[in-house]
Amino acid sequence: MSLLRVQGLFKAFAAIRAVDSVSFEVRPGEIYGLLGPNGAGKTTTISMISGLLKPDAGEVIVASTPFWSDPQKAKRIMGVVPQELAIYEELTGRENLEFWGAMAGLSSGEARSRTTELLEALTLTDRAKDAVKTYSGGMKRRINLGCALLHRPKLLLLDEPTVGIDPQARLNILEFIRNLRASGTAILYTTHYLEEAELLCQRIGIIDHGRLLAEGSLKELQDRLGGDRLFVLEAELKETSPDSWDGFRQRFRVIQKTERQLVVSAIGPRDPSECLKDLLGLPVRVENVMLKRPSLNDVFLQLTGRELRE
Ligand code: ATP
Repeated sequence: MSLLRVQGLFKAFAAIRAVDSVSFEVRPGEIYGLLGPNGAGKTTTISMISGLLKPDAGEVIVASTPFWSDPQKAKRIMGVVPQELAIYEELTGRENLEFWGAMAGLSSGEARSRTTELLEALTLTDRAKDAVKTYSGGMKRRINLGCALLHRPKLLLLDEPTVGIDPQARLNILEFIRNLRASGTAILYTTHYLEEAELLCQRIGIIDHGRLLAEGSLKELQDRLGGDRLFVLEAELKETSPDSWDGFRQRFRVIQKTERQLVVSAIGPRDPSECLKDLLGLPVRVENVMLKRPSLNDVFLQLTGRELRE
């Protein structure tokens, strides 16, 4: 049984199809990454899943129950960490967490002990009594995350939780999220950082212009490109169109072409040395050929024609 299933989710703002027929599921014990550039529709998707926005069409099913048939049940199951910080700067870290504990219906005793536990896990115990306005960006992000966890949600929705913080603070948050998964929380994680999706997620959905273009494990997505290697050719390519070269289209798929570089994958199971021979025989002056493992960036490139770089 999946903890979350979205089916044909659709939302338009005037002419913009912010989320266009998106379907996926988050299974128990996994971190599902929704990866896409700014404006791809990630926040709109999370807003519909958490009940902040009503979909124009489609359904959100939380633990087998449609969200809108029992929103209270869905909200008990999920915790939501918005991209914009939703914390009170004048209050201390402890007061912020206890406040959200009360909002989640915990008794004051429960809220206090759960807060102590979370402060520890978030490595914020020694700053618990300081006003949040004195925290660093990474510490604020951690408190923001903690606020969604008071009621021990089985499903956590995280909307770009590491935006705008330094690399060390980012690693800290990623580690915390990994531990949450290890303790049994299923997570929907939106990001525009390829590296986070690669490091963290068991399955990844690639979203662009509101549409889910592909999904699978990192390995499955890489396999879409035709195995575990890509060929990178450096040559004077300018106006040439590789697909017009004799026999090229039958043997190679173009992942990216610039004036100086051509990235291709081989079609079908082929010996790399054969491929190299084919590539060196192309009707351009090849200066260099390299082999590399396909990255998630290459998958994104092939699907959208654009780079998704940090
Ligand atoms: P970001 O990381 O920049 O927030 P995103 O992937 O979360 O990007 P969304 O915020 O979901 O993307 O936006 C998807 C599209 O919908 C964008 O084109 C955005 O401009 C548009 N959009 C989102 N919310 C609204 C709104 N309330 N009114 C009008 N357009 C909106």
